[in-house]
Amino acid sequence: MSENLKGYKKDAKKFLIEHNLKLWDIIKVETKTTTYEGILLPRYEYSKAGFIEIKLENNYNVGIKVDDITKIEKIGEKEAKYKIPEKDFPKTKGFPEITLLGTGGTVASRLDYTTGAVIPAFSPGELFSAVPELADICNLETEIVFKIFSENMQATHWQQLAHQIETLANSGKDGIIIPHGTDTMGYTSAALSFMLKDLSIPVVVVGSQRSSDRPSSDAAMNLINAATVATSDIAEVTLVMLGSSSHDYGLIHRGTLVRKLHTSYRHTFRTIDDIPMGMVQNRTIRMFTDNYHKKDKKKRETTALTDFEKKIGFIYFYPGLTSEMIHYYIDKGYKGLLLAGTGLGHVATRIYDAIERAIEEDILVLMTSQTLFGFVGMNVYSTGRELLDMGVLPGKNMMPEVGYVKLGWVLGQTDNLEDAKKLLMTNIAGEFLDREIPIAFNYDIDRLLKDNLI
Ligand code: ASP
Repeated sequence: MSENLKGYKKDAKKFLIEHNLKLWDIIKVETKTTTYEGILLPRYEYSKAGFIEIKLENNYNVGIKVDDITKIEKIGEKEAKYKIPEKDFPKTKGFPEITLLGTGGTVASRLDYTTGAVIPAFSPGELFSAVPELADICNLETEIVFKIFSENMQATHWQQLAHQIETLANSGKDGIIIPHGTDTMGYTSAALSFMLKDLSIPVVVVGSQRSSDRPSSDAAMNLINAATVATSDIAEVTLVMLGSSSHDYGLIHRGTLVRKLHTSYRHTFRTIDDIPMGMVQNRTIRMFTDNYHKKDKKKRETTALTDFEKKIGFIYFYPGLTSEMIHYYIDKGYKGLLLAGTGLGHVATRIYDAIERAIEEDILVLMTSQTLFGFVGMNVYSTGRELLDMGVLPGKNMMPEVGYVKLGWVLGQTDNLEDAKKLLMTNIAGEFLDREIPIAFNYDIDRLLKDNLI
């Protein structure tokens, strides 16, 4: 029975079992105020507990609090159809050959209208059914590499993706699309940016905030935009998502400078500290910069350098932080510590002793800032200078998560501490900017376009 109650936990599950109900049953539910009729749906893993969910006749889903239900009965059954109709993805001679490496997340989900089942849409045939415009852009092959929400991504997943991309790029593919959950998409785009040396083709990470069954879904538009960028000359790891609340274009973000900034808005990703690399609209790309690696398959042989040190501590400074946390990481044999400090790159003097111990024990300590925007400036205040004197390395404009990924990657590449420090301070994949770019703070692309500033 529990197999049939996917996503239901504790009280709600007990309630459904007691009433002998299973998924796809058509049920009538009475509460003190209303009566509903609809199909009992599975729930997402992360849905709120204590509710059941049904699809009403009018196709809307409602969640009903179990405690409010006064009567529930089964009045019929619906059969689940898990398959999206497959249509042959047409191949057009001369079109770019693109491979889509599916990893999961909302962008991979689609709801079966008749039953409400959430199903992945990932074979080329299914994708063609769902987003037929893709066939006007490229010849597409697809592979499901993982089927996970991105909060479950780890370095091993990045490594596997990087190896697959290396093989595909060197075997003549024109571009790669990686549909991915949005939550940790910025970590993956940064990791792939560091891992893929001399990348010869575009690698585009893409997601969606709303699954494709919802009228407001951004999945199709993001996939079309991603496919357009995957067929371009941008031989870098980029992240492509909707760019404004008007939802009519996508922005192309560099993989090491991008952050998810809103839990639910569709234009949730922004380039931090710079303006995006470009935009994509109606299958046309407009670049805002010429500073990117251009595709040149003849010269560049892609190499995946995937070794990654997993023992990296990520310490977000807060007023109550004590030395204990840092001693813990040292005692556990961690090799690197990423600090997300305050302002220009500070932490309280009361934890200096622990930081000093970490550095004495050859742990690399990298400072970034919680402010997100701007460079750390550790020469400005005495507290910053003292940390520099101890040997804390300044992460310049890198966001904490990018610093974390780079630290793990660098310590995977070399055991030699001096080499690691040098590599950490080298601009590998556009993560370091030369200077502050004033218009990058709170940029408004619509405005910049209107004022002819980009
Ligand atoms: N939690 C989901 C994930 O990151 C959200 C999404 O897919 O956008 O996989």
